[in-house]
Amino acid sequence: MNHEVYETRVDLKTYQMQKLNELLVFVKGFNDFYREKLKGISLPITSLTDLRQLPLTTKSELAQDQTLYPPHGRNHSYPEDSYIRYHQTSGTTGRPLKVLDTVESWNWWSDCWVEVLKSAGVTNNDRAYLAFSFGPFIGFWAAHEAVQKQGSMAIPGGSMSSEERLNSILQNKATVLFCTPSYALHLAEVAEKLGLNIKDSSIEKIITAGEPGGSVPSTRSQIERLWGAKLFDHVGMTEMGAYGYSCQEQKGLHVNEAQFIVEVINPDTLDHVEPGERGELVLTNLGRFGYPMIRYRTGDAVIYEPETCACGNSYLFLPGGLLGRTDDMVVIRGVNIYPSSLEAIVREFHSIKEFRIIYYTEQEMNQVKIQIEGPEDVVPTLAQLLRKRLGLRINIERVEDSSLERFTMKARRVIDNRTTKVTA
Ligand SMILES: [Zn+2]
Repeated sequence: MNHEVYETRVDLKTYQMQKLNELLVFVKGFNDFYREKLKGISLPITSLTDLRQLPLTTKSELAQDQTLYPPHGRNHSYPEDSYIRYHQTSGTTGRPLKVLDTVESWNWWSDCWVEVLKSAGVTNNDRAYLAFSFGPFIGFWAAHEAVQKQGSMAIPGGSMSSEERLNSILQNKATVLFCTPSYALHLAEVAEKLGLNIKDSSIEKIITAGEPGGSVPSTRSQIERLWGAKLFDHVGMTEMGAYGYSCQEQKGLHVNEAQFIVEVINPDTLDHVEPGERGELVLTNLGRFGYPMIRYRTGDAVIYEPETCACGNSYLFLPGGLLGRTDDMVVIRGVNIYPSSLEAIVREFHSIKEFRIIYYTEQEMNQVKIQIEGPEDVVPTLAQLLRKRLGLRINIERVEDSSLERFTMKARRVIDNRTTKVTA
């Protein structure tokens, strides 16, 4: 499944086509959820363009299916006793989705993660520290498997305080840290308070997931500076698999096209968008027969580029990684605002420890303010930069140090108090 096996894009497309048909025939035979969805579709399909005729799959559809067929729904191709792993989505939107894997599909998950490790140059001499709770959220569970699979040492950091985790990293001389970007920043803050030198520690690489921050250049360079390490980003979803990773070039994410078919659509018209145009990422996983996902609307906003990345990996490239959610754009006084673009600017200020974005309505007008933990003198400079880059005056409010929430998993830094959501 290494990308190097595909000499050309044509070889890759041929392989995808063959895998896709194999999957479609299988799910039509054994998977009740997709048998119903694919009713009337004749197989095999003959081109990837035909893929566009298959119905899209949405999260709400999966959730509804679990309500109708509790507890696990019908997206299973094998009897339930064949399943060995249970996970659930983090539930940032709606009720968590329950997702099961078989031995085979769980093995596929960790194979996909091995690709992430390879791209980051992690070897069997590395010691991986996983600063993760090891709860039902899939998080770094598959990374843990992959680390062992390729012969590195896996050090789990579940049920520990940040101080305990830092001590474990230092004592065990861990070389690779796995965590969310927010948590990498938080650990650095705790280390500073405790007087622990992490910059010169054994950590050489940080692999982030769970939030887009790892691909936001200013967030990434702040983490790299604090840890004296190189950051590699990774994207995956409980319902989809570990589908993308950054490379030594650090300019965005590659999608593992040997295991996933990528489409980018306009979320309103559902038409495919052109390269360079912002759209919604739609994925099909090709190797998770126990829990297949065909044309799944991820809700993540991306831009794709047809050119090959300078690292030589010819898989589809998403510059800047995930650009946010397709529904997280807010219009403030006529300006389109994305939380990720605000984050990119705020993170250019190393003295800002934490921040929060608040949307609110004042005199029928939607407004945005940013609360920061940082020194007084950063306020006018930040306000000026925001105004210059976005063409919008944004209130900056300084709050007490350590008063804003710190995040160990998916950060929620946006509070929406608007009373009128009409955006135009
Ligand atoms: Zn690359």
